[in-house]
Amino acid sequence: MAQITLKQVEKSFGKDHVVRSLDLTIEDGSFTVLVGPSGCGKSTTLRMIAGLEKQTAGEIWIGDRCVNGVEPGKRNVAMVFQNYALYPMMTVKENIEFGLKNRKVPKAERERLIADITEIVGLSSYLHKKPQSLSGGQRQRVALARAMVKKPDVFLMDEPLSNLDAKLRSQMRAELIQLHKRIGTTFIYVTHDQVEAMSMGDRIIIMNGGIVQQSDSPMDIYNDPANRFTAEFIGSPP
Ligand code: ADP
Ligand code: MG
Repeated sequence: MAQITLKQVEKSFGKDHVVRSLDLTIEDGSFTVLVGPSGCGKSTTLRMIAGLEKQTAGEIWIGDRCVNGVEPGKRNVAMVFQNYALYPMMTVKENIEFGLKNRKVPKAERERLIADITEIVGLSSYLHKKPQSLSGGQRQRVALARAMVKKPDVFLMDEPLSNLDAKLRSQMRAELIQLHKRIGTTFIYVTHDQVEAMSMGDRIIIMNGGIVQQSDSPMDIYNDPANRFTAEFIGSPP
């Protein structure tokens, strides 16, 4: 588990300032949702935390470590995407095991981790199936399990449910909330959907134009929006 701190983090692509001076603290063990309209810089922010994108200025801290210059594989974070590319020729178990083998985790430990985690995400009876025979929700669970076996300090999720139909999406939201309660790891969840944000997060960060508009509990944002953008985006009463 770890707190994430961003200190005056900026990101430009050429002349395009897509993230402007982010100062943020994401509390250890929180379910933090980063929400805002398309193009506001959410994915870029998440990718900078993961180390997949290098910030132009500022510092990123994970726990008590400044991770500027630390490669993605050494940050102890796991990222779950919307396009959870599973290996089609491998079974569910092999998909989950692949990264563990790469990191030379001993077989007994791999077996134990896979058994524990597939139990948590409800995949125990699908271990020997191939991805194409799974539903979208089951595939998303495989992607989650694959991230969970890394025992990351932080889960970074970028619109992980947006490829699912509405019914499955609402079921998976509930499952993710339960999962977070159960494992207690810091979650940072990105979405452009304010309803999803307000129903999932215990902490909401609203972004627009590369700037944080408000960072608060859902209740505080609803009852006391910081500005007009936030009020309109969330649909708070005037
Ligand atoms: P969001 O996830 O909130 O929709 P992004 O972080 O993906 O937004 O993108 C923010 C802005 O940065 C957008 O204008 C996007 O076009 C731009 N952008 C993102 N990645 C790159 C890149 N690799 N090169 C140039 N511009 C980019
Ligand atoms: Mg995005």
